[in-house]
Amino acid sequence: MVDIVFELESGTTGSVLNDVFSERERQEELKRQGKFKYSCADFELDNGQCYMILGEEFGEVGHALNEMIGKVYSGREIDFAMLPVREELIQVAAVAVAWVERIDKVFQSRATSKSALNALLEENYAKVVDAAHRT
Ligand SMILES: [Mg+2]
Repeated sequence: MVDIVFELESGTTGSVLNDVFSERERQEELKRQGKFKYSCADFELDNGQCYMILGEEFGEVGHALNEMIGKVYSGREIDFAMLPVREELIQVAAVAVAWVERIDKVFQSRATSKSALNALLEENYAKVVDAAHRT
């Protein structure tokens, strides 16, 4: 569970990304403890497996929302009822981050040198990102 410390800057991109970072660290700690063998940051998982893990986490957002159906909230109860949804969204983001880490590590592992990597990135990255933004 993510420790949520609401401070004045809560609700900013930076504060949310801090929670995503903490969740990434938690995932790696759970792996070290043996709860699961690999995270999406590891070479051992392929893209299909990472997609399934991300999909499972995404489904848990729906489950958390489903748990709220039919309940009546008064006052600030709705804020607290949303905390499990928030936690699952942070987990979705952290799994996505882990998968991006893996993609970057694979990319980097195929570069013969830092200058070769930079040349590859310069040549390809802008057009790939541009194409992705158009979809
Ligand atoms: Mg989850």
